[in-house]
Amino acid sequence: MKPPPLRYLRAHDPEEAVELLAEYGDEAKVIAGGQSLVPLLNFRLARPSVLVDIGAVTPWATLVSGDRSLELGALTTHLRIERAGGTEPFRGLEVLPRTASLIGHLPIRSRGTIGGSLAHGDPAAEWCILAVLLDAEATLCSGRGERRVPLTRLLQGFFTTTIAPDEVLTAVTFPRTGAAASLVEHAPRHGDFALVAAAAAAEPADGVCRRPRIVLGGVGPTPVRVPDAEDVLAGRALTPDVVAAAAAAAAAAVDPPSDAHASSAHRRRLVATLVTRALTHVGGRAREGRAA
Ligand SMILES: Cc1cc2nc3c(=O)[nH]c(=O)nc-3n(C[C@H](O)[C@H](O)[C@H](O)COP(=O)(O)OP(=O)(O)OC[C@H]3O[C@@H](n4cnc5c(N)ncnc54)[C@H](O)[C@@H]3O)c2cc1C
Repeated sequence: MKPPPLRYLRAHDPEEAVELLAEYGDEAKVIAGGQSLVPLLNFRLARPSVLVDIGAVTPWATLVSGDRSLELGALTTHLRIERAGGTEPFRGLEVLPRTASLIGHLPIRSRGTIGGSLAHGDPAAEWCILAVLLDAEATLCSGRGERRVPLTRLLQGFFTTTIAPDEVLTAVTFPRTGAAASLVEHAPRHGDFALVAAAAAAEPADGVCRRPRIVLGGVGPTPVRVPDAEDVLAGRALTPDVVAAAAAAAAAAVDPPSDAHASSAHRRRLVATLVTRALTHVGGRAREGRAA
């Protein structure tokens, strides 16, 4: 199918983008890489009467690397992050380039943006999971000004966020915590969305885990943190027994949905397997003294 008739407006700078969104409100939708929105338009699952293309708003493609955080402009593509592996801005945040390569296929990664992924709010999306894992914050801008929101508060449910119709997500900021981190997933075919994804992070201290975090994707309406499993890890070394106990606690704590792709029981088994893998990676990185 083809999209319904709509007006296409291209913003050239942040001010113009914000003005257009203020003018058209909930009649309008932002388009960035188009990799999620265009299929929704073609299936007529989204029916905006105006598209505001922000692709030319170059200030929103900027990367700001500081000692304590890395700010990625919303228009940073998945591919740019993937190709930045090993570079200084991603020091301590190597999990971002490593994970980017899991997203879709090359043409999708070369157009799709991190801001689009977070604004789309798919609970199995890699950026949504990592943003929750690593306590990232989104910067949102509108005619009313700018606000910063932790991703845990931005992501509200399946494809639902707290971004207002006249707001645009301009950047996402990842703190450099020194944690070792990993995201692993299971997808039926390479490039498909993950059935289940598991991400883990921990700050290594004297051979034991500090501030352990486990976040799962594909098991609920948003990325899900699993405090029951994190409690198993706190203050303990990541030995195989401890990892197995945390993985079992994670599987017991979730109630994943059944759908055409997988039953709830299958997803639960995947949780146990993937949490084990993610924690094993984290343990390995921590032993090598390497952060995220
Ligand atoms: C075959 C296929 C496989 C895929 N596999 C994966 C995968 O494995 N993992 C994954 O995470 N994604 C996957 N995707 C989705 C892809 O990563 C998209 O790039 C991403 O979800 C959205 O980014 P975008 O820039 O293309 O956003 P768009 O498609 O342009 O927009 C998506 C939504 O976000 C809104 N939006 C976009 N940017 C902003 C902004 N800055 N501020 C406010 N609202 C905004 C739009 O209005 C729209 O509602 C896949 C897509 C396809 C087609």
